[in-house]
Amino acid sequence: MRAARFTGPGRPLQVQEVPRPEPGPDEVLVRVRAAGVCATELHFTDGLLTPARTPITLGHEVAGTVEAVGGAVTAWEPGDRVAVHYLHSCGDCRQCRRGRENLCAAPRGMLAFASDGGFAEFVAVPARSLARIPEALAFVQAAPVACSVTTALHAAAVAGAGADDVAVVYGAGGVGSALVQVLRHRGARVVAVARSPRRRELARELGAEWTIDPADGDVGAQVQRLTGGADCVVELVGTADSGRQALAALAPGGALVYVGYSAERIELDPVRLVVPEQRILTSVSSTLAELEQGLDLVARGVVRSVVDRTEPLEAVDDVLGALARGEVTGRAVLVP
Ligand SMILES: [Zn+2]
Ligand SMILES: [Zn+2]
Repeated sequence: MRAARFTGPGRPLQVQEVPRPEPGPDEVLVRVRAAGVCATELHFTDGLLTPARTPITLGHEVAGTVEAVGGAVTAWEPGDRVAVHYLHSCGDCRQCRRGRENLCAAPRGMLAFASDGGFAEFVAVPARSLARIPEALAFVQAAPVACSVTTALHAAAVAGAGADDVAVVYGAGGVGSALVQVLRHRGARVVAVARSPRRRELARELGAEWTIDPADGDVGAQVQRLTGGADCVVELVGTADSGRQALAALAPGGALVYVGYSAERIELDPVRLVVPEQRILTSVSSTLAELEQGLDLVARGVVRSVVDRTEPLEAVDDVLGALARGEVTGRAVLVP
């Protein structure tokens, strides 16, 4: 089968022939129908993240059909339409038992980080890492849900955003456009921050009440002027500058929630956090339940899965280039 392989930072991905994986007894072989391309992929190619091994097949946003099942699998059968929860949590460790599968101590695998991902014709995954795709939902729309909508659902829960809260989405790309909608769904009033006019326009379409262009001046001051201060800011950019401005955007009692990151550091002045009792939180990944919830929200039209373009597997490097240049609004999806 064909697969797009990562061999090391600074090098283009290579679409190669590799052996088709064999599902183990409790695994399922999924024929990939759509695989979303995420900004995380760029962190492999820029060297900020290092997968457990190379070469490895990238792609952690996978939708497809069950091709074959291992001998011990009873929940799935060939032809089932499935999305893959990319972090294959064990279900048995202390974190999993507390419902914090995203922090699983002994994951069975993790697409594109530790095990071969979905930029390929097939991928083998544990049966317990699958969610059913509702009939109403196309594969191309379902694939990005596995990371963008799920990451947004988890971050909104960490932020605790609720009715009448002012919530800032700092960076309106793939996760950002999902977050705008998820926060709206929770009843929050949303501010979206984006440099690109197209992304600001999309954020307004998806329910943002205000949009801010960082080029118009200090983002913190703009948020304070428009809203009187944010109850939460979800940071999807992660530079020194965005971190400083996100803190300045908070109301007393507000929370800064880190989701995005870069190689840059931020400086903290504890007293300026303590006196207004502001908090810095982080949110990583998601749970299988959040994948099921995300697929349901998109199938019911509550959240739109914004797909910018679909491309063949061979175009993966062009797509990554477009993503790095900020030319993708929503998600680009590969159809192997
Ligand atoms: Zn992702
Ligand atoms: Zn676990």
